[in-house]
Amino acid sequence: METIRLPRIMQETVMRERRSGKAVGFVPTMGALHEGHLSLVRAARAENDLVAVSLFVNPAQFAPGEDFDRYPGNAGDDLEKLSSSGLADIVFLPGKEAVYPPGFSTRVEVVGLSDRMCGRFRPGHFQAVAAIVLKLFNIVQPARAYFGQKDYQQAVVVKRMVRDLNLPVEISVCPTVRDPDGLAMSSRNVYLSPEERQAAPALYRALRAAADALEGGRRDAGGLGSLMRTVLGREPLFHGVDYISVFDPETLDELENIDRDDVLIAGAARIGGARLIDNLLVNNLK
Ligand code: AMP
Repeated sequence: METIRLPRIMQETVMRERRSGKAVGFVPTMGALHEGHLSLVRAARAENDLVAVSLFVNPAQFAPGEDFDRYPGNAGDDLEKLSSSGLADIVFLPGKEAVYPPGFSTRVEVVGLSDRMCGRFRPGHFQAVAAIVLKLFNIVQPARAYFGQKDYQQAVVVKRMVRDLNLPVEISVCPTVRDPDGLAMSSRNVYLSPEERQAAPALYRALRAAADALEGGRRDAGGLGSLMRTVLGREPLFHGVDYISVFDPETLDELENIDRDDVLIAGAARIGGARLIDNLLVNNLK
C-alpha cells in the first residue's frame, strides 16, 4: 500500500495505472475509519483493479462552531487499518495547504438539493462537499466511487453533480453498516458518553417504526412524523430534533402525501455533543 500526499503525484500515479488499462475504485473519507468505511473499500476492491482511499478532513464543510477542531481520527491508525485489511492500494492523504492553496476561490453548488434536509441546518455544507468531491475525482480519476447510504443526501448531491457535469465516474451507494443494536456506525459516535451511546439507537428505532407502519399500509406523512418524534422522545437524552420525516428519495422534498412506491425516511437529532443522522429507504409500497 502506497501513501501519497501531493495531488500532482496522485494524479500522475493514477494516470500511469489508467494507461496500463486499470480501473480505479475510489473511496473518499474523512478518516477515523470504522467498519462502515471498510465496507465501501471492500466493495471497491471487488469491482476494480486498483483501490484508492482518501483521508482528508475537509475544513470547508464544517461551519464555525461545528466539530472540525475536535473531529476524531488519527492518520496512523487509519493507515494501519487499511494496510492490515489488505484492501487498498493507494491512500491519498493530502495536507490542507495542498487541497486549498492560497487563492482557492471556486464554488460548486448543486442547487436545490443542497439546502434541504441537513442543508437547512448546515448552510454551505453540501456546496463544500460537492467541491471537494469534484476536486478529488479530478485528482484520483476513478472509474467508480463508493459512498454510504448513511449520508444519503450527500450521495444524492454527488450523483446529481456527476450527471449534470457528465463526470466519467460511476457512483455506487452502499448499505449503512450498523452496530448490533441498530445504531449507524459513524466516526462521531465516539462523542457519546456510555449513557448516550445506550440511548442513541432510538433514532434508528424511530425510523424503523415509521418504515414498519408504512409497510403495514399507513400513508399519512404527518402521522408518521409524530410517531417518530414519540419514539425518539422516549429517550430524554435526545435534546433536539433537526428533522425527522418522510421524503421523496430523488428530489428530497418532504412528502405530505405518500402516493409513490419508494420513500426515504430520514432524521437528524442531537444527543450530548453529537448530531446523529440516519435514514431508511422503503421500496415497493403499493
Ligand atoms: P466520512 O468519513 O464520515 O465522511 O464518510 C466517508 C464515507 O463513508 C461516506 O460515503 C459515508 O457515507 C460512508 N459511511 C460512513 N458511515 C457509514 C456507515 N455506517 N455505513 C456505510 N457507509 C458509511
